[in-house]
Amino acid sequence: MENIVALCKRRGFLFQSSEIYGGLNGFWDYGPLGVLLKRNVKDAWWNDMVMSHNELVIPGGAPGTYEMTGLDCTIIMHPQIWKCSGHYDLFHDFMVDCRETKKRYRYDHILGRWVLAASPATRVFVTTLETENTQSALEEAALKFFGLRKKDLDKLQWEGEIMSLPDVMRVASDTAKILAPDAKTPGTLTEPREFNLMFKTTLGALGTEEDTAFLRPETAQGIFANFKNVCDSTRLRVPFGIAQVGKSFRNEITPRNFTFRSREFEQMEIEFFCHPSQSAQWYAYWRDRRFAWYIKMGLAGERLQLREHGATELSHYSCGTADIEYQFPFLPPGEFGELEGIAHRGDFDLRSHMEGKLVKQGNELVLEKLPNGQPKHRGSGKDLTYYDDLTKERFTPHVIEPSAGADRATLAFLCEAYQVDTAPDEKGQPQERVYLKLHPRLAPIKAAVFPLVKKDGMPEIATEIYGELKQQFSVFYDDKSAVGRRYRRQDEIGTPFCITVDGQTVQDGTVTIRDRDTLEQERVHRNDLVQELTQRLG
Ligand code: ATP
Repeated sequence: MENIVALCKRRGFLFQSSEIYGGLNGFWDYGPLGVLLKRNVKDAWWNDMVMSHNELVIPGGAPGTYEMTGLDCTIIMHPQIWKCSGHYDLFHDFMVDCRETKKRYRYDHILGRWVLAASPATRVFVTTLETENTQSALEEAALKFFGLRKKDLDKLQWEGEIMSLPDVMRVASDTAKILAPDAKTPGTLTEPREFNLMFKTTLGALGTEEDTAFLRPETAQGIFANFKNVCDSTRLRVPFGIAQVGKSFRNEITPRNFTFRSREFEQMEIEFFCHPSQSAQWYAYWRDRRFAWYIKMGLAGERLQLREHGATELSHYSCGTADIEYQFPFLPPGEFGELEGIAHRGDFDLRSHMEGKLVKQGNELVLEKLPNGQPKHRGSGKDLTYYDDLTKERFTPHVIEPSAGADRATLAFLCEAYQVDTAPDEKGQPQERVYLKLHPRLAPIKAAVFPLVKKDGMPEIATEIYGELKQQFSVFYDDKSAVGRRYRRQDEIGTPFCITVDGQTVQDGTVTIRDRDTLEQERVHRNDLVQELTQRLG
């Protein structure tokens, strides 16, 4: 992971936000190559899910035809949206504060283990946030606490397995023995408390409580709030999906693992509206279709998995949820991180925005009421049901929600693409080569154009070719240093093809195209380059 992070910084994929001022935790900037890569991820998603969808044909695995469209909603919306959706009351994580270090942690992110030292005979639960080398981080914390040196490691007696803080607090009555990360004395952690993850902001100049608004923590609610507008302004018929790509904000307590858990990130969400009788089939369709998309874009292999949630893990409104997960290199072996959740949300969302905030009572969703019988959070009162004029039926559509993170997908594609092999250098000597084996659709630069040398008419032809290709592709011109080094520079950023103008080009108009992965070179006429690249980029 360190190598990937270093490459991202060195070659301009990702920078820490506000780095010149020491950075801001949980915020990341995409550099010149990163912006291209992330845009390609979002474009591939939008193109495959929305633009290229053919509503006249039943796709494999789907129960029927359907339509797709898009929206671009505002980040700040009416605060009532978040009250009815449940985010205002429910969208929280539990967190603990350390009274000694004044640091705040997400409750379930602290890992630790019981340890005893012979002298003094004290038993303590040492903790860390480190997930990659948890045991060695715990050893370091324990040595420090007991005032021992590295060579005294055998004086530590470990008890039981590594556990998360909620697990230990559930069974251990003695929380005074828990040593917080970086603390000197045990027992400094507060009881876990709720923490609302929505960023607050103030509208207008007065700044009263009534003017409080929130930065959206997900893009989905803007889609529900516009469901009626979309139905009334288009001829879309259920089943149809509305897609949206945009920024979301969550005041994560412990942002970490590079861009994986950020406070500002981008989501790619679809809300798919269907008849309740078909929603189970549509759920299965979207779950499998989204999983297949990651494989198609390059995440094949044992590092990707589809995990169906068990009954206890489901949200109170969900009739089925699956996560698409990736084994990021910063996670401990065998652990996966969520890339996308696909949820069967029933009629929860549309009903919430009609009636008001709902709660589960037995198996029913009912309006949550205050002691005086008034709704806790009143809905819009607008009719968000759907009338099917063919079957003459009125119903509240069910929703299937494939909700993906653009930053997590981009990070997974980067991690999967990072490869090291051996390839001959310009003198024919085998050398270690770092390259990004990105899908050509995702690669920030599609082709680089090189004159072999800066003379004999080669730069003039290469400049012309570059100008022609630039009309259609993201291309890069490089005439600096030996051609082998130029290849390496492109391999390292995942450029799938390098086009070299050499002596023969001057004679017969052909150039070489070198493939990043196979290193094979083929001669192609310069007039056929656009067609050739279009075909190869897929
Ligand atoms: P987690 O359990 O990891 O916090 P979540 O289940 O809360 O994630 P969702 O609310 O389902 O996430 O959001 C949908 C997608 O948005 C996630 O699968 C992920 O790709 C992305 N996402 C959510 N939170 C973050 C974040 N803090 N940073 C980056 N991406 C995020």
